[in-house]
Amino acid sequence: MTAPTMIEQRDELLAFTNNGGCINCGTCTAVCPLPKENVMLPRHILRLMHLGQREELIARADAIFSCLLCRLCEETCPAGVSIPECVRYLRGFMNRHLHHLEKE
Ligand code: SF4
Ligand code: SF4
Repeated sequence: MTAPTMIEQRDELLAFTNNGGCINCGTCTAVCPLPKENVMLPRHILRLMHLGQREELIARADAIFSCLLCRLCEETCPAGVSIPECVRYLRGFMNRHLHHLEKE
């Protein structure tokens, strides 16, 4: 099985984001218990993925792996975005990159 391209990954990610339904309200960031220096989670990560900004995502691997998967963001999101599922998906993306299994 070959690794998905960035475009394919973005399309797959849309399934977890209610087809990109994020309205950028900031509620998820407000309820996230992570330290605010990790404030890149969650909506900024979603935005980078939607824009296909691969290098910027990889540079933020620490933030992606620090997510607690507590689902507070998901419970309060008014747009039905499942950020924890996005995070799980992105961790796979990061691991493929680290092990050189990702296609450009
Ligand atoms: S709470 Fe939902 S709609 Fe609001 S910024 Fe976060 S992901 Fe987007
Ligand atoms: S699941 Fe992750 S991004 Fe969402 S509130 Fe919890 S720690 Fe923050």
